[in-house]
Amino acid sequence: MAQADPGPRILIVGAGFGGVAMAIELRKHGFSDITVLEGAPEPGGTWFHNSYPGAACDVPSPLYSFSFAQRTDWTHLCSPQPAILRYLQEVTRSFGIEPLIRFNSLVQDCTWDGDARQWTVRTADGAEHVGDALVIATGQLHQPVIPDLPGRDVFTGKQFHSARWDHDYDLTGKRVAVIGSGASAVQFVPEIAPKVARLTVFQRTGNWFLARRNRPYPFPIRWAIEHVPFVQPALRNFYYWYAELLTASIRHPRTLGKVVGLRSAAFMKRKVKDPELRRKIWPDHTFGCKRVLFSSHFLPALTRSNVDVVTEKITGLTETGVRTADGRVTDVDCVIWATGFATNDFMFPMEIRGRDGLDLREVWAKGAHAHLGITVPGFPSMFVLYGPNTNTSGGSIIWYLEQQAAYVRQALELVRDRNAAAIEVKPEVEAASDAALQRRFAGTAWLACDSWYRDSDGRIVANWPGYMRDYLAAVKEINGNDFELVS
Ligand code: NAP
Repeated sequence: MAQADPGPRILIVGAGFGGVAMAIELRKHGFSDITVLEGAPEPGGTWFHNSYPGAACDVPSPLYSFSFAQRTDWTHLCSPQPAILRYLQEVTRSFGIEPLIRFNSLVQDCTWDGDARQWTVRTADGAEHVGDALVIATGQLHQPVIPDLPGRDVFTGKQFHSARWDHDYDLTGKRVAVIGSGASAVQFVPEIAPKVARLTVFQRTGNWFLARRNRPYPFPIRWAIEHVPFVQPALRNFYYWYAELLTASIRHPRTLGKVVGLRSAAFMKRKVKDPELRRKIWPDHTFGCKRVLFSSHFLPALTRSNVDVVTEKITGLTETGVRTADGRVTDVDCVIWATGFATNDFMFPMEIRGRDGLDLREVWAKGAHAHLGITVPGFPSMFVLYGPNTNTSGGSIIWYLEQQAAYVRQALELVRDRNAAAIEVKPEVEAASDAALQRRFAGTAWLACDSWYRDSDGRIVANWPGYMRDYLAAVKEINGNDFELVS
């Protein structure tokens, strides 16, 4: 009896939202030989690692969840981290993905073998995995960065990064420095401020804020979401368009951006009455240029009597605290680095070698780029999820990941249906789509200041320049003519 063809062997790196979406999509369409390599002991990705107090998603859960696994039992509009992690782990289990995952398997290098037409992936424990296709789903925000300031090893107190929160360290009654005031700090500062003795927030750049109270749903609303059939889909639809509107305000900084910026300014003035504090926290850049922060709790926390905001440049750490350019040392027991992630590095330090030993690091030396953020010339049957230029400033990354997973699945169907060994995007197609994408940033707020969306040359490598619906239009149906099939 003929053996059923098990189909291509597909290796997926990462068991966060991207890797799980990919595995579900592939299984739904008949691909069965799937291995997911995950460095952590559990699925979850960013939602496993970021467990700082107050961690939550500021994208409403009806949109920050899979379209095929909608829930009516969220307790908040924007779910806290434990609920998001639980959701992803439940989806992973209920769609039968968990048995496909090899946990504690930190990928170190991926190498394309042109003769065997396959990828070999090595993990930190020395294991080797071989596949016909490779999907890298490690995201843009997974490698915590601590700035290389002098004296970091001299400081004798406690220090940790917000994405590696030390839950065993009790902050009660301690003098704490928080370095950074981005999306993570904004969530944990209001949580820790009431319990610490003294909190000093070192802010380099002010931010624009919009309200987000995120109280638990009152009972009648929760009941309606659970029991009235159209309420939950209507919420998803509403927040989809709300997110598109936010993108419109960033795309049109002189018109809609001004209106939303005024709304933000009014909100901030309501929250901070003290002129000195207001001067310190006020942003000096165009609304939407950096990530807009959603919190009704952060600015009030800064007005507490045990909280200070320091805007002097940090020059280093001493044995006892944080030194600033004015020569002052703020003595603290603990430094919390809320300084973000190595966003421009994408999957690096992983080593990726494609056709003829091509090194992805060299290909991306002048900034990462990929066709629709997914495929790179010279890297056959390699696909990146949440790759270059697919971050969203207004929208849900889960929504983008689902579209990307469907696109990758179509690429693998092309390979299968045409009896090919692999698929590779044509260099001229990738170059043209990248140039067109970069042109779409002209006149938008994203170009109006420096941010983690840009590389050291100022090129935007993180963000998609348009709307969710534009991205869907671009990836909905794969164009076979964009690719060479490798036989
Ligand atoms: P971030 O937004 O990159 O913020 C890092 C902060 O550290 C900024 O305030 C930055 O100042 C400051 N900083 C960096 N290096 C510094 C230095 N050498 N000296 C002084 N300050 C320094 O990082 P994050 O807050 O961890 O957030 C990263 C991203 O994760 C967010 O933008 C967002 O996309 C995502 N996130 C999302 C949520 C959510 O609810 N959806 C929550 C948390 C995080 P500058 O502004 O001057 O660079």
